[in-house]
Amino acid sequence: MLDAAASRFRPFEVVSKVRESATITSFHLTPLERQHWRPFEAGQFLTMRVPDRKGGHVLRNYTVSSSPREEGTYRITVKREAAPSQDVPDGLSSCWLHDEIEPGAVVEIDPPRGAFKIDSASSRPVVLLSGGVGLTPTVSMLDVLARESDRPVWFIHACDGAAVHALREEVEHLAALRPGIAVHFCYRFAENNDLDAARCHSAGFLTRTTLQSLLPLDDYDIYMCGPPPFMQALYGILTGLGVRKERIAYEFFGPASLLSETGQTTARPAMARAAEPTTEGDGPRIVLQKSGRSLAWDGTSESILTFLEAQGIEPEFSCRAGVCGTCEQGLVSGEVDYFEEPLDAMPGDRVLLCCTRPKSSIVLDL
Ligand SMILES: Cc1cc2nc3c(=O)[nH]c(=O)nc-3n(C[C@H](O)[C@H](O)[C@H](O)COP(=O)(O)OP(=O)(O)OC[C@H]3O[C@@H](n4cnc5c(N)ncnc54)[C@H](O)[C@@H]3O)c2cc1C
Repeated sequence: MLDAAASRFRPFEVVSKVRESATITSFHLTPLERQHWRPFEAGQFLTMRVPDRKGGHVLRNYTVSSSPREEGTYRITVKREAAPSQDVPDGLSSCWLHDEIEPGAVVEIDPPRGAFKIDSASSRPVVLLSGGVGLTPTVSMLDVLARESDRPVWFIHACDGAAVHALREEVEHLAALRPGIAVHFCYRFAENNDLDAARCHSAGFLTRTTLQSLLPLDDYDIYMCGPPPFMQALYGILTGLGVRKERIAYEFFGPASLLSETGQTTARPAMARAAEPTTEGDGPRIVLQKSGRSLAWDGTSESILTFLEAQGIEPEFSCRAGVCGTCEQGLVSGEVDYFEEPLDAMPGDRVLLCCTRPKSSIVLDL
């Protein structure tokens, strides 16, 4: 499986390394061979093949934080994940990038992918909401919205403080490109003069009151990305303020975490539109062996994963792009079509729910 995956990776040179804050550094990557460049949409991520400490490799995803207009170069912006205590190792990939990778180094990446993208068919106002290094997709999205659209935009970013605040000047520059873009920075540990000097606009956590005061009553498209506690809190605030769940698209930087504290996944990326629940019909059936349910495939769901979610079944997921393997399930019988090629070839008795549709009736070990 590793060889199949390895063959997809392409060598890219690190052409520059830019410190963005005390903990966050950007790396600009260009392909050694020009034909290996692939365009991307704001919000998508690259998968990098990183040496582990045992002579093998691990895969890590990094969102492209630059503008899709910058042809030939991807910028990734990475937080150094230091060990939380002495008895555990530092974050493998982020510390390798920060501590060992310098301009001239060559890294291996798979082309951009991912469903966390701006819905360009919508004309609704947009809220870009990020916590910490979760601003990487929203900065790229802001670039597109500032240059190519006249939709009102609120760029709201929360982080611990000025020392760890990355890409501030770029955000301010983009917001100044046209009217209709508002920026709000919230520092959890604001220093005495941060508010006076307008380095931030609020202090402490982002609250319901702050969001209510910033956002006039309207029907927004919300794109959010940040650490799980931030996402949980903001998701609760937004839905409490009446924002419809299908208007909230999100990305987690890690294994699937759940937005509600009850442990139920309660939202999905807005782009992955769900189908109406159904148990009748003539098309292929999706049989869930463990729960004994038999469902008629509706033919319109984006993937088996979105179909199951629409039935109230909530398998684990993370990247929703065939990379992380979180949604892998046993395929007891039947055949599926991959509409997105998974990073690792799947054996015939396994299936990635996020990037497949049934070709025939199937039985899942679920
Ligand atoms: C779609 C997507 C996009 C992403 N985009 C970005 C991005 O733009 N920027 C970005 O910075 N990140 C991004 N990430 C996160 C990134 O992929 C990595 O998860 C992140 O860099 C940490 O990886 P690592 O190898 O450095 O840390 P890991 O080795 O995975 O370790 C993570 C943390 O756990 C600690 N740890 C290690 N072992 C143990 C142990 N035994 N017990 C307890 N703790 C332990 C480490 O010290 C570290 O703090 C993204 C993730 C996804 C899924």
